[in-house]
Amino acid sequence: MKLVLASHNPHKAREFERLLPGFEVEPYAGDLPEETGVTFRDNAELKARHVHAAIGGSAWVLADDSGIAATALGGRPGVRSARFAGEHATDAENLDALLAALAGRDDRSVAYVAELVAISPEGQELYARGELRGRLAERARGSGGFGYDPAFVPEGESRTVGEMGAAEKDAISHRARAAAALREQLAAELQERGR
Ligand code: IMP
Repeated sequence: MKLVLASHNPHKAREFERLLPGFEVEPYAGDLPEETGVTFRDNAELKARHVHAAIGGSAWVLADDSGIAATALGGRPGVRSARFAGEHATDAENLDALLAALAGRDDRSVAYVAELVAISPEGQELYARGELRGRLAERARGSGGFGYDPAFVPEGESRTVGEMGAAEKDAISHRARAAAALREQLAAELQERGR
């Protein structure tokens, strides 16, 4: 079954195809709305509803939003994770900004959060959330993953996600956990419709 992903990123589409086996995930080619929400769910809803309307309900739509939340910063950078060091900041600049913001802090706990919204052709909305808790290392280590991965140490680990393999990350990531929860809801919904 096809899912139109409210993102232009082909890597994200392949990642969701790995996390949602049996679904063909196709990136949406048209324009996408600005991410003006205050929660990840708000932004996922904005994108999913925009694409649902744009394609006239001709297929299921999937949208996600994710980021990192630091306890000592009251949950920031949160929805501003991709822009923490400025509007067009690179991953390395955002990571440096977070390392600087937590420099000297005792509480280095952080969480990756992913929120997903799927909309059926008829407009029924499904929502799922996944979280990976951890702590921010004092400095970046490893070159795997992207974004904040070189300094994110998952709970129970001593390595950063940047030092882990892609399959290891896929087994525990916030997106994988959110996708697993959504997959269950999609399966139940599709079974219900097939009856
Ligand atoms: P988006 O969900 O693609 O908008 O991602 C938002 C931002 O959150 C990314 O640019 C990264 O800064 C951060 N982020 C989300 N997921 C991850 C992850 O798995 N590893 C590292 N950074 C992440």
